[in-house]
Amino acid sequence: MDKRQFTFEEIKEAIENFSPCMNDYLYVFDIPNDRYYISERAVERFNMPCCQFTDVANTHRKFVHPDDVDMLFEDLQQVISGEKDEHDIIYRWMGRDGHSIWINCRGRSIRGEDHTPQFLIGCINEVGIRPIADNVSGLLESVVLKASVANLHENSPKGFIMRLGIDDFKDINEKIGISYGDYVLRGVADRIVSLLTPKQKVYRVVADEFMVVDYQDGGIEEAERIYRALQLAVDEFIQEENYRAVYALSAGIISGEDIADMDYSEIMKISQFALSRAKKLGKNQSYRFQAEDYQKFLRKREILVEMRKSIERNFEGFELHFQPIVTAEKEELYAAESLLRYVTSEGERLSPLEFIPILEESGLIIPVGKWVLEHALKMCTECRKRYPDFKISVNLSYVQILKSDVLEDIVRIVEESGVAPANLIIEMTESGYVERNASVRTVWKRLREYGVWTAIDDFGTGYSNFLSISTMMPNVVKLDREFTVKAMENAYEYQLMRHIIQLVHSVNLRICVEGVETQEELERVRKLGADCIQGYYFSKPCPPQEFLERFIEQ
Ligand code: C2E
Ligand code: MG
Ligand code: MG
Repeated sequence: MDKRQFTFEEIKEAIENFSPCMNDYLYVFDIPNDRYYISERAVERFNMPCCQFTDVANTHRKFVHPDDVDMLFEDLQQVISGEKDEHDIIYRWMGRDGHSIWINCRGRSIRGEDHTPQFLIGCINEVGIRPIADNVSGLLESVVLKASVANLHENSPKGFIMRLGIDDFKDINEKIGISYGDYVLRGVADRIVSLLTPKQKVYRVVADEFMVVDYQDGGIEEAERIYRALQLAVDEFIQEENYRAVYALSAGIISGEDIADMDYSEIMKISQFALSRAKKLGKNQSYRFQAEDYQKFLRKREILVEMRKSIERNFEGFELHFQPIVTAEKEELYAAESLLRYVTSEGERLSPLEFIPILEESGLIIPVGKWVLEHALKMCTECRKRYPDFKISVNLSYVQILKSDVLEDIVRIVEESGVAPANLIIEMTESGYVERNASVRTVWKRLREYGVWTAIDDFGTGYSNFLSISTMMPNVVKLDREFTVKAMENAYEYQLMRHIIQLVHSVNLRICVEGVETQEELERVRKLGADCIQGYYFSKPCPPQEFLERFIEQ
């Protein structure tokens, strides 16, 4: 955790020092401050205003070949949004003399303490006057592919493209060496070639990725057949090499019909999506492109970009709503659960079920989680003026525990707020983590030692089991709405609810029943002896001002 963060000036200085000893150009892109620095020599060669500039995207327009701008921005956006860390594309820059120059721009993003990308640092090298063939794989480069995809549409709409990638290729380079890595690339390339007919071609796309293009109406099944044969051939190759390196291939397969109206850069995007999907599914497998999956992926990415902007603009669009939790017996206000809301810049209200997983996957739940805690404790301070015992409940995601120093943050925010630790309830879903993960157990234990209350959320769904109650020993067990709904409809589940409540009480814990919507449900739950109730019957989650007016000031 104690990694030193470099400044822009320090990286610039390193670049200035290294540049005189190399032909390539080094650069750094300071993402949050939108500024860029490249080796001074680049200014003599390319049509750029100076070696340091701001407004990075627009300035690039001045020296990137117009046909390549979209492709570049698309790839950069993925790095900026934190979706990926590597940038590796071949495209054209304009020279001072007006001619285009093929370059390979490779970079890696460095993330800051909050896990958001800070710098993209890398190297530009001129790939040669005619980057037609690649000496490592012996294959044609994607420049040729670019010229030939047009044929695919015209001649064989029922053909396919298949983007192949070697899984964890970096490990081979790092553990065994680059020359063995090159040997593997060559070996895999040879095996691909040996499986193709004369009307199927293979190109090298980037470092460890190949594109097979079928110009003969082969169809998806043909692609899958080739992929399976290739898996066998690669396994044999690994055996012949006495398992010096063990690796597999993933493939994204797209039918010619799906790409019928697309240009080269769209085809590259879609094929990259398809290959990443295969890798996400667990690697060593193929994925058949589905347009709906791609639409979902694009929507997720759009939401991510939007939320990232919101966070930069001081959490604009995020709201925290509050839902009262009352005692079952006297219906007195006991606590409130803080529930996050998000409204896009276009006014669309997204469900937490949609945007919270995106925050979690991207790590953005870490800054947002701190914001939630700060606002929840502010609300708690307000409510305690009237109800000194009032508790505020906050949901904690596993990502916050696994990828940040959440304990330190909670203690700091609680201290700053002046609220007693026991007035904060931290809710966590039981999803098997607690039993399996030591750091989760530690954080949970420390929270209790510090005096914060803990609650198991979503009890009665998914993974939750009684073992988790004894491992976690929370202060409160929250019975999920899904379970309540079933118990209200079905006598067997209702009995089960009775026993759960008795069991929780037998170890001296409290139980809160969620999702109570009607008077009748309230009566039935109350009969079973639940301690607290949360549900639309009392109130839906509401904005802070409304919550204060309806439940505190009255
Ligand atoms: P949860 O923690 O179990 O929150 C309770 C959910 O049940 C809330 O949905 C609430 O609006 C809903 N609910 C409560 N009473 C009733 C009822 O009587 N009827 C019906 N139909 N629904 C009821 P919401 O606000 O959509 O939140 C969904 C989930 O999103 C939450 O489930 C929680 O897991 C997650 N979430 C919300 N805010 C945060 C947050 O700040 N951080 C994290 N990590 N997760 C959050
Ligand atoms: Mg909750
Ligand atoms: Mg819940």
